[in-house]
Amino acid sequence: MDLSFDPDSLSLPVGHFIGGHFGAANGVIPMHRPSDGKAYAECPIADASVVDQAVQAAKAALKESNWGGVRPRERLNVLHRWADLIEKEVETLAQLEAVASTRPVGQLVDGDIAISAEQIRFFAEFADKEGSDLVPTDDANIGMVMTEPYGVVGAITPWNFPINMAAWKLGPALAAGNAVVLKPSEMTPFSSIYLAQLAVRAGLPAGLINVVLGDGATTGQAITGHPEIAKISFTGSTRAGSAIMENIARTGIKPMTLELGGKSPQIVFADADLDKAAAAVTASIVGNAGQACVAGSRLIVERKIAAELIDAIRNQMKGVTPAPTWDAASRYSPIISEKQRQRIDAIVSATIEAGGECLAGGTRMEAPGYFYAPTLMAGVDQNSPAIIEEIFGPVLTLQTFEDEEEALQLADHPSYGLAAGLFTRDLSRAIRLTRRLQAGTVWVNRYSRSRDHILPTGGYKQSGIGKDLGREAFQANRKSKSVLISL
Ligand code: NAD
Repeated sequence: MDLSFDPDSLSLPVGHFIGGHFGAANGVIPMHRPSDGKAYAECPIADASVVDQAVQAAKAALKESNWGGVRPRERLNVLHRWADLIEKEVETLAQLEAVASTRPVGQLVDGDIAISAEQIRFFAEFADKEGSDLVPTDDANIGMVMTEPYGVVGAITPWNFPINMAAWKLGPALAAGNAVVLKPSEMTPFSSIYLAQLAVRAGLPAGLINVVLGDGATTGQAITGHPEIAKISFTGSTRAGSAIMENIARTGIKPMTLELGGKSPQIVFADADLDKAAAAVTASIVGNAGQACVAGSRLIVERKIAAELIDAIRNQMKGVTPAPTWDAASRYSPIISEKQRQRIDAIVSATIEAGGECLAGGTRMEAPGYFYAPTLMAGVDQNSPAIIEEIFGPVLTLQTFEDEEEALQLADHPSYGLAAGLFTRDLSRAIRLTRRLQAGTVWVNRYSRSRDHILPTGGYKQSGIGKDLGREAFQANRKSKSVLISL
């Protein structure tokens, strides 16, 4: 199938999806296509009353369908049918995603969307396999840990992998027996609405997924502060995570999962397979133009091989060409907005002022849209803006080390601890360093997720609280009750 499409020909769902019904709503926030900068739509803002309608629809659906109390196999079956439909409708989903976001259409079909369907099936499987436990006690009692769904879960997602982030939230929440009020990013809302419509077509009781559009200040705050939303699952920046904690503390205590920002190091030792390391390091900062929470944005390399590795990475960076996300041949993503591109530029300039230099890139690219050249920066220290800030762009910093201790010292970031990469052929060293790296994920001799969804993802330090994916994400969507029965 030729995946290229005309972005002006799409019909966009501008409105909220509540109780199984799509309702058009007035657009307020201007939306520009990252690939060509064209103003093409306006995103509505759901206020507290619209959010409340979504919560009431979720509560009514839970009650009517008894979703949390049906035979778990029924939940599993519906979620499998939803995943099948996502695969069948992949082309429409890919277009709604590619037009608004930075994700190239060719990478969506076999990548983001295929993986999202797979992850929904993965979580569905927990529905009838993961349950309550009998626990050891004396003969006079029976003790058990009983688990139950929360009820209505509030989910808030970012713009960088919109469908996939929605699947990470919806899959475990629904499999665990909850209903969801989802707010996608105001920059990339359309694919989430279509995803929810597909769920209803697949047989999910209407009202179990509600999608409200809007910004953080109004819609996001109304969700996190709603008294009948029992749990919050958030992915986004550390700044917004902190605002959410504050709002939850002010409006009432509730559990939350926060998947936040990162500034992840990749340490390369001289004994590593350098071709493999160069390819992995470059891919991790060029992929989605560095707009990934786990982007391996700080390269820390053993001094004696630095020149060789720099050459290899620069060569790969040079081969990158911009193309709009709706072109099936596109492999390099634009930056999400002009504002974000200006921020990248500003951090690069501030780093140069502080003594840094660009060994590659450091400029906008000559193309329509918000493209920024893959950039490699040297001459940086632990206080350089490019080391401290999560840039969320294709900017890789370079630092060198003499020994393991120095490598670890450089790798340790004052606030972030999301992921880390390690390239060495010495197994003992790999394990020794893995134990000491302060990160929620460590990749050795690779820098990417696999399709082993059982591995949870989440951050140390200010990179987050709790986990997405894995058994942990399912368990985080159920609360536990301790029961002791006297015989
Ligand atoms: P963002 O924090 O600006 O927005 C994320 C979402 O939160 C959006 O839907 C936004 O409208 C909403 N929001 C913003 N302020 C809010 C508030 N006060 N209350 C409630 N909701 C609010 O982030 P972004 O720019 O969309 O995404 C990029 C960020 O997401 C990066 O920091 C990146 O590292 C992070 N991220 C983390 C992971 C992870 O798994 N740890 C995955 C993807 C992205």
